Amino acid sequence: MENNNIESKNFIEQYIDEDLEKGRFDHVATRFPPEPNGYLHIGHAKSILLNYGIAQKYNGTFNLRFDDTNPSKEDEEFVEAIKADVKWLGVDWEDRCFFASDYFDQMYEAAIKLIKKGKAYVCDLNAEEIRDYRGTLTEPGKNSPYRDRSVEENLELFEKMKNGEFADGEKVLRAKIDMSSPNINMRDPIIYRVAHMTHHNAGDKWCIYPMYDFAHPIEDAIEGISHSLCTLEFEDHRPLYEWVVNELEYDMPPRQIEFAKLYLTNVVTGKRYIKQLVEEGIVDGWDDPRLVSIAALRRRGYTPEAIRMFIELCGVSKANASVDYAMLEYCIREDLTLKKPRYMAVLDPVKLIIDNYPEDQVEWMDVSNNVKNEELGTRKVPFCKELYIEREDFMEEPPKKYFRLFPGNEVRLMNGYFVTCTDYKKDENGNVTEIHCTYDPETRSGSGFNARKVKGTIHWVSARHALQAEVRLYENIVDEEKGKLNEDGTLNLNPNSLTVLKNCYVEPALGEVEPEDKFQFMRNGFFCADMHDFSKDNLVFNRIVSLKSSFKLPK
Ligand code: ATP
Ligand code: MG
Repeated sequence: MENNNIESKNFIEQYIDEDLEKGRFDHVATRFPPEPNGYLHIGHAKSILLNYGIAQKYNGTFNLRFDDTNPSKEDEEFVEAIKADVKWLGVDWEDRCFFASDYFDQMYEAAIKLIKKGKAYVCDLNAEEIRDYRGTLTEPGKNSPYRDRSVEENLELFEKMKNGEFADGEKVLRAKIDMSSPNINMRDPIIYRVAHMTHHNAGDKWCIYPMYDFAHPIEDAIEGISHSLCTLEFEDHRPLYEWVVNELEYDMPPRQIEFAKLYLTNVVTGKRYIKQLVEEGIVDGWDDPRLVSIAALRRRGYTPEAIRMFIELCGVSKANASVDYAMLEYCIREDLTLKKPRYMAVLDPVKLIIDNYPEDQVEWMDVSNNVKNEELGTRKVPFCKELYIEREDFMEEPPKKYFRLFPGNEVRLMNGYFVTCTDYKKDENGNVTEIHCTYDPETRSGSGFNARKVKGTIHWVSARHALQAEVRLYENIVDEEKGKLNEDGTLNLNPNSLTVLKNCYVEPALGEVEPEDKFQFMRNGFFCADMHDFSKDNLVFNRIVSLKSSFKLPK
């Protein structure tokens, strides 16, 4: 997008420039810290590409770090899925894939250090009491009666917490900061809790686990992260982040900078809702093409290039706002339109019979693979007496401005001949079953014929050569205008979000494509061969996006 010479920098880059200039850091190191408790979605792509992009721009490093300090919700399956998605986006963490749980020893040591400095204490209040003592936004909190325990006693109790001598919730370790701070996060936050749980990586070694606000800055500091980019909801936690890295006296304490989350209209992004859709079988798994998980976008046919373009267009900001889903569609069209071949596929077929065409004749028409990009070459497409065309390309009684087939009208068969409709047949229910026409042999495509013009051009496939295929069409799973949620808080789902067409016909070249290949079906949109269900004997295509859009790129 930035095609002028003035390099525009986002606010994060401006902070970084300033930090480097002032010598606060001598390098730039960023990280993407997913919690392995679900699949990544388009919002995570923003964070990944932002962090990776900054590392590249400043010749720095980028780490992938699994933030797996919470033993209850995490799963190995998600670790592998996240790695695959990050890689697919084109992001390379080289040899820097880390697990926060590998730092449990250092976090424990850090807690001891705070205790020794008189900056942390073991507290016996239960969860409810801690809440009561915390105060409110308008009222200060009260000190815990355990706040003034001696360093020795705290060390001893903390050790006992670690050794499993207390039940879950019986004791916690708290930072000793300020119970009357206007920022509630600073009112002696809990930094360690007892939880007798098995951890997916650390096993049963620990029965105490650090809290996120304590663990995260330590993880960043251990890895030498310079700029810890996170989303806006952590803005109020920044003073605590700074308190932790300062009290632990790291040489170059990392700096937290917040940016706005990416939200999209007409989609479901929250892990909670996606999980519900998956578990209730409303969608076909985490990678159902109607979702906006990275895996789902990939299966739908999105490319990493399109996602990168989209994230770039979204920019980086400090204000939460929803981006129009149509902008994502714009990006995939832009990416595919010149790169991919254009085929003919008939999604709702009706037979077209050319009465004056020789019964057994086959003509192999030379067809450009992409008229806008000659580099993609040409292919041969068979033409014969019986074709399939789209049902909607014929009307018995056309309205004004309908230029396609109707009795007496002449149209161009794309890459074929001009044909004139002479007759049609219907079944007992009134459905058109076949359309008859005659062709003019003078009008063959490529022959330079220009004695007369026709207004309508339609696509077709040869009935004798066409391959049968299944085509899946998608609509948004929720509709912003109708409301994403019902009154009872459940999702207001679009009942037409998936349409499966089993009886489509495609030209023979599509029998040669591979799963995940992408192309245009002329007049019908961009499609891809489904990565799971497509095989040479079972052609299954997903519509990525239709061809037309009302979306205009903002100036
Ligand atoms: P969700 O609430 O959607 O499940 P999360 O924040 O719980 O997401 P994490 O695994 O904790 O998921 O997120 C990893 C990183 O991705 C964090 O740094 C987080 O700030 C960032 N992130 C999450 N959602 C978005 C979003 N919508 N836009 C930009 N960054 C995001
Ligand atoms: Mg989270």
